[in-house]
Amino acid sequence: MRRLLIAGNWKMNLDRGHSLALVQGLVESLRSISNVDIAVCPPAVYLGELGKALHGSNIGLGAQNAYSKPDGAYTGEISCAMVKDVGCRYVILGHSERRAIFGETDQMVNEKLHAVLAAGITPIVCVGETLQEREAGKTQQVVRSQSIGSLKGLSHDQMLKTVLAYEPVWAIGTGKTATPAQAEEVHEDIRTLLESQFSKETAQKVILLYGGSVKADNALELLSEPNIDGALVGGASLKQDSFEGIVRAASSVHK
Ligand code: PEP
Repeated sequence: MRRLLIAGNWKMNLDRGHSLALVQGLVESLRSISNVDIAVCPPAVYLGELGKALHGSNIGLGAQNAYSKPDGAYTGEISCAMVKDVGCRYVILGHSERRAIFGETDQMVNEKLHAVLAAGITPIVCVGETLQEREAGKTQQVVRSQSIGSLKGLSHDQMLKTVLAYEPVWAIGTGKTATPAQAEEVHEDIRTLLESQFSKETAQKVILLYGGSVKADNALELLSEPNIDGALVGGASLKQDSFEGIVRAASSVHK
C-alpha cells in the first residue's frame, strides 16, 4: 500500500504575513488527517520561520530547490544541509519552470538528487512533456528520457526514498488538467520503466505524484487512479480552502 502525498508548491508567491497565516490555518484545519502525507513548499526565505510554525504538526516542510554542492562560492544558491537545517523534509527538483527558465538539465537534476538523498531529505523529482511534444506523440519518450537521466546512479534503496512527479507542462498553471486516463497512462508507463531499471518490487513502492491544475473538484478522480499516489499542487495550494479540499479528497480515497 502506497501512502498518498499532497505537496503544495507555492512558487514565488505570498508574502511573509500571508505565508504564516496560511500555514497556521492549515495546521489547524488538517490536524485530524492521519492517512495522507502533507507538505508545503514555500519560498526559501520563509522556510525557517514556517518550519517553526509547522513544528509538531502533520504537515512537512519542503524547499522548491537546493544546490548539489555542499558549500562554497555559489552566490544565490542554498545547500541541502541548509534546507535540512531549517526543517525541510522534502525538496522539489527539476520542476519544469526550473528546466525551462533556469536551464536545468537532467544531469543537473541528477547531481542535486544525489545531494538531497545524501542529506536525508525526500526529493520530489519532476518530469513532463510540453504540449508540442505531446502533440508530436513523444510523451512516453520525453518522460522516460527525463526519468532515466534524472534518476541515474540511484540504488534500489535510494529509489525507494525518491518521489517522482509527472507534471505535463501544458497542464501547469493553465487550468487544463490531464484527464485521469491520460495521467494514469503515463504513471503506469513510469512504473514499467522503474521495473525495468530497478525491480518490480521497488517499482511498486515508489510514490508517483501527478501535477498540473489539480483542484479540490478534480482531485478525487485523479487520485482514484491506481498509479496516482498523490499530487504536486501549484495554484490551488495558495489558498487554505482549496488545498484543504485536495487533502480531504486524498484522505477519502480507498484503493
Ligand atoms: C506546479 O507548478 O507544480 C503545478 C502543478 O502548478 P498548478 O497546480 O498551478 O498547475
